[in-house]
Amino acid sequence: MLDCAIIGGGPAGLTAGLYTTRGGLKNVTMFEVGMPGGQITQSSEIENYPGFFEHDKTGMDFMDTWQKQCFHFGLKHEMKKVEQIKKTGDHFTIYLEGGDSVEAKTTIVCTGSTPKRAGFKGEEEYFGRGVSTCATCDGFFYKNKPVTVLGGGDTALEEAFYLSNIASDVFVVHRRDEFRAAPPTLERINRKDNIHLITDTVIEEVIGDAMGVTGVKLKNKNGEIKQLDNPGLFVFVGHDVNNDVLKDENGNFICEVNDWGQVIVDLSMKTSVPGLFAAGDMRIEAPKQVVSAAGDGSIAALQVISYIQEQQ
Ligand code: FAD
Ligand code: NAP
Repeated sequence: MLDCAIIGGGPAGLTAGLYTTRGGLKNVTMFEVGMPGGQITQSSEIENYPGFFEHDKTGMDFMDTWQKQCFHFGLKHEMKKVEQIKKTGDHFTIYLEGGDSVEAKTTIVCTGSTPKRAGFKGEEEYFGRGVSTCATCDGFFYKNKPVTVLGGGDTALEEAFYLSNIASDVFVVHRRDEFRAAPPTLERINRKDNIHLITDTVIEEVIGDAMGVTGVKLKNKNGEIKQLDNPGLFVFVGHDVNNDVLKDENGNFICEVNDWGQVIVDLSMKTSVPGLFAAGDMRIEAPKQVVSAAGDGSIAALQVISYIQEQQ
């Protein structure tokens, strides 16, 4: 029986691993799929993690030391996809890909969320080289330069507002003439002189060179093509929360989630199920930053230690 099963090996999962093992738990295993270190490994540069200010280091370099540090304190690691988590009596059963399962006294779920892609030409090619899904992370790279924002929801307009305080101009491209965002947000946007709304328009293609994005090709509903020579493109067309592990055989969630599938936690990262914690980008109101995901992981881990002590 594991003291704690950690699902996900991004900043939240690794920090949870560090705090549980260093806090005295002997038997902690972290399960992970894909690129070790989570989604920040896709980033070519990270500038807003306090204490880390090395421009020549990628997200992959950044996460490498996290893993070494955690494994040093005894965190065990398995590159295995978790299919499902079930609470059986007072413990959890973690079902792994391939049919195996493990038992755990507690579980911290840190499976993150995945920004949706819009599907225009060049989006993948230039992702991380001018195409971004995070204004807080990458907005500063476009200080006093024009940027394009794609999307018409609350996220797109709120992030456009954030960017308008950094970039010279923000061009919001939306495929319809009505915005999905809340009316007060739209009113706030309309009061900003440097935000320009381009409606009934899609992005046909993002264009660039070896250095990254140089502009976007737009097409409106009449088929007219226009080019914006903006070096930054921010895509906000929704997120998929990676919450499948929390669904039972009937597709029902085992803990409370909100309308968008984000896990409802309190300030201690406790879910509605005793012994089950959620941390990082998958929880409600997550700022979707490395530093906050790591903070969540530490909070959840400290709660796990208290929970196990209380059960003894
Ligand atoms: P993630 O990092 O998404 O990790 C989730 C983990 O769960 C992964 O290891 C995944 O493999 C694993 N997982 C998922 N499903 C399963 C399963 N079924 N079984 C087992 N494992 C599973 N933030 C910043 O603060 N600064 C930046 O500059 C910055 N730049 C970014 C640039 C890019 C290109 C991207 C994509 C993101 C950036 N972010 C940045 C955001 C930051 O990466 C996230 O906020 C952070 O990684 C969230 O951490 P997490 O641990 O919650 O989730
Ligand atoms: P969203 O509401 O789903 O909006 C996504 C936007 O992207 C929509 O305008 C959509 O266009 C557009 N879009 C989707 N796919 C596209 C594609 N392939 N190409 C071009 N455009 C595309 O997502 P969100 O803005 O991330 O918000 C998610 C939820 O969180 C929403 O319910 C939102 O209200 C909530 N939220 C609330 C707040 C807040 O209250 N402060 C802040 C952020 C988010 P269409 O409109 O044509 O579908």
